[in-house]
Amino acid sequence: MLIGGIQKFSLINYPKKTAAVIFTQGCRFLCHYCHNPELVLDEKFQKPLDEKEILEFLKKRQNQLDAVVISGGEPTLHKDLVSFIKKLKDLNYLVKLDTNGINPNIIKNLIDQKLLDYIAMDLKAPLESYSKVTNIDLGVNLIQDSINLIMSSKIEYEFRSTLVKNLHTKDDISKMAKLIKNASLYILQKFRPQITLNPAFSKYEAFSDEEMGKFQKTSLNYVKKCFIR
Ligand code: SF4
Repeated sequence: MLIGGIQKFSLINYPKKTAAVIFTQGCRFLCHYCHNPELVLDEKFQKPLDEKEILEFLKKRQNQLDAVVISGGEPTLHKDLVSFIKKLKDLNYLVKLDTNGINPNIIKNLIDQKLLDYIAMDLKAPLESYSKVTNIDLGVNLIQDSINLIMSSKIEYEFRSTLVKNLHTKDDISKMAKLIKNASLYILQKFRPQITLNPAFSKYEAFSDEEMGKFQKTSLNYVKKCFIR
C-alpha cells in the first residue's frame, strides 16, 4: 500500500477505542473542500512510509492500542488492502475503514472475509448532484451499491457528510438523510476553512452552529441517530 502518513495515537477516530490511523495515498475524487490534498494530488505525494516499519510499530503497540483506522485518500484503491488488513488482524487489531464508497466490490470482499469491525462512509451530496462536490463524474451507482452493502451488513457503521455553505442546501441535507433512511448513525461534519484542495474554498464560510442544529433535527426524521462533529 502507498501509505502517506500515520497518526500513532488517537482517541477520536474509532468510537470508544484507542487507535492508530494510517493514511493511504491516492483518491479518485477531487472534493473542493478536501483537507488532505497531499494524499490526493500526485504532485503533492511525499515518499511513502515503509509498510514493514509500520507493522513493526503496531506489533510493539499491541498492548496500548485497540484498533487501526485505515483512512485516506481512498484506501480501497490499493490492491493489497486486503492482505494488509489480514496482517493487522494477525496482530489482533480491530480495523475501521474510512471510505468514500467508490469501490463496493472491495468493501463487499472485506465484509465477506470478516476483516472489518467498523466502516465510516462519506456521503458527499444527493446522488443527482454528487459530482458538484466530488468535482469529477464517476457515476453514482457505485455509491448506492456501497450504501446498500454497508447498511445490510452486520458491521457497525456510520455515514458522514461534510457540509459546506457554497455546496449544500437545506434540501440537499434532507435528501442525503433520506438516501440512508434508517441508518444507525449519521454524522454531520462542519466544514472548517483551512487547507483545501480547491484553494478558493479556504475562504468559504461554514454553516453556523444553529444551522447545523437544524440540519441535525431534519436528518433525525430519517436516521436513527445523528450527531454533529
Ligand atoms: S475529501 Fe474527497 S478528495 Fe479528499 S480524500 Fe476524501 S474523497 Fe478524496
